[in-house]
Amino acid sequence: RSKDEGGGSHFAYEPQMHAHAEERRKLEFALRHALERDELELAYQPVVDAETEEVLSFEALMRWNSAEFGRVSPAKFIPIAEDTRLIVPIGEWALRRACDEAARWPSNIRVAVNVSAEQMLDANFASTVVSALASSGLAPERLELEVTESIFLRDGGAAQNTLNQIQTLGCGIALDDFGTGYSSLGYLRNNRFTTIKIDRSFVTGAAKDSPESLAIIRAVVAMCDALGMETTAEGVESERELERIRQLGCTKIQGFLFGRPMGALEASALLESRTERRIA
Ligand code: C2E
Ligand code: MG
Ligand code: MG
Ligand code: MG
Repeated sequence: RSKDEGGGSHFAYEPQMHAHAEERRKLEFALRHALERDELELAYQPVVDAETEEVLSFEALMRWNSAEFGRVSPAKFIPIAEDTRLIVPIGEWALRRACDEAARWPSNIRVAVNVSAEQMLDANFASTVVSALASSGLAPERLELEVTESIFLRDGGAAQNTLNQIQTLGCGIALDDFGTGYSSLGYLRNNRFTTIKIDRSFVTGAAKDSPESLAIIRAVVAMCDALGMETTAEGVESERELERIRQLGCTKIQGFLFGRPMGALEASALLESRTERRIA
């Protein structure tokens, strides 16, 4: 690192930027070996029916327990996996694992798997889904793939193609984190999403009586009802949030109030003892 690399005020920030890049490089290196070292796991978070509070599905969420760094948050390692395209093999592992585990649940319970843009734009993605379903024996209708609007930004045509293929298979498609990106209505016109997941920031806002959050959720729910799509409220943590979300008419709820992401064994146990529904 030489002095003439940066100039002026930029120079003052350099050590910090350098430390950040260094940490990222180390994490990236460790992540390259996470699969073979068996350091990845899936946690499952229940999604419940807004009216009956019955568990409908679980969202599979990746967990990395690194020998070197301990537990690393997905907020940190998923972006690294995306930038390096490591998300393609790691995401395939997650898809296969989730299908295998969900195949053992009662047949009315579905599983949702997050899919990054890099995976959607990979020409083999649909055949990977076919293969994961075939080898697990999971019915396609029990698998829902969660995508974000970012899939349309780089190569809308390719993303559209893959979405169509997946839909033809019979899998559900959820639009995740709705409201945080471009939220273009064109995406909703051109795609048959099964579920729109309303971002947690709106849920929080609604419970604080933010007129904007309330109006936006109300509008999204009305639109989804008209289009035959379900609405999941993300990140419901309190009774107050639950009450608001019910009033607003979201059809499904996910959040710490009904359950934190849990191990596969715990998820199975939850399904077996369905009398006690609130396990937060
Ligand atoms: P996401 O798909 O929007 O997942 C929901 C996130 O919100 C999860 O964070 C979950 O633990 C958290 N959450 C759920 N309920 C509550 C709540 O009541 N309060 C709060 N504060 N948070 C709640 P997590 O597991 O840290 O995952 C973060 C993000 O990482 C996910 O956001 C998703 O974008 C990404 N991700 C996780 N697993 C995978 C994966 O297997 N593949 C891909 N491509 N991305 C993944
Ligand atoms: Mg998700
Ligand atoms: Mg989300
Ligand atoms: Mg989110």
